[in-house]
Amino acid sequence: MFELFEDKDGQGIKYYKSSILNNLGLAHAFTTRLINSRSITDFTLGTGGNTALEYIVSKNRKKICKILNLSEKKIVVPKQEHTNNVKIINNSNEDITQTDGVITANPDIVFLLQFADCAPIILYEPDQKVVGIIHAGWKGTAGRIICNAVKKFEDNFDIKPKNILASIGPTIGQCCYPVSKDVYSKLKNSVNISSCQAFKKTHYDDKIYVDLKKLNQRQLLEVGVENIDISVFCTSCNNDLFFSYRAEHGKTGRHSAIASILV
Ligand SMILES: [Zn+2]
Repeated sequence: MFELFEDKDGQGIKYYKSSILNNLGLAHAFTTRLINSRSITDFTLGTGGNTALEYIVSKNRKKICKILNLSEKKIVVPKQEHTNNVKIINNSNEDITQTDGVITANPDIVFLLQFADCAPIILYEPDQKVVGIIHAGWKGTAGRIICNAVKKFEDNFDIKPKNILASIGPTIGQCCYPVSKDVYSKLKNSVNISSCQAFKKTHYDDKIYVDLKKLNQRQLLEVGVENIDISVFCTSCNNDLFFSYRAEHGKTGRHSAIASILV
């Protein structure tokens, strides 16, 4: 279940937390674009390619860290490039180019990844306290990036998949995500069964509508992760609440998934 929170210092920054993670004391948030500020209309945590926003983005990143009580920690923002690469990050000056998934056991690190329609997924193992954030658009999903991440939890920390909790945040919904036949066939091959209701044909066009959240849920189940919390929101239908690349034709800000281990 995803619960809405609002910061208390009066700026009205609104963000969601996933109850399965919050109950176990992981500092995290799935942010929205909402803020009650006269000078800022949107709470963006990424420039979306608009360099004029760099200053405000850096201020906003500090703000959300403060709200989550993470001000003394080091923010790591990987260079997301729609790959299926997942890296273990031990300190804040590691190579994070071409990185769409990051994992750490270091409580001094804060992960912040940026989204506008793609699926934000937080993975957490509460016994050893290992956290990861994954960026899964269609390319990452076709490349089973979430399974790569689970494998890293197993290989590097000897963690059993059934002990991992997963939260899939606000993502473009099946209602708003038609894809080409080529993309469909790549996504179909990313899961073992095609009947997981992730694909829908309509009678009014010949497109195939894809549910990225269901595909990532299916991939998680296939590799043994059972405890999965999924946000109900479609970022495109709820464009007042979230940034949507599709709904805004590519020109938009970025909401975020943020996570850091509490000691
Ligand atoms: Zn929608």
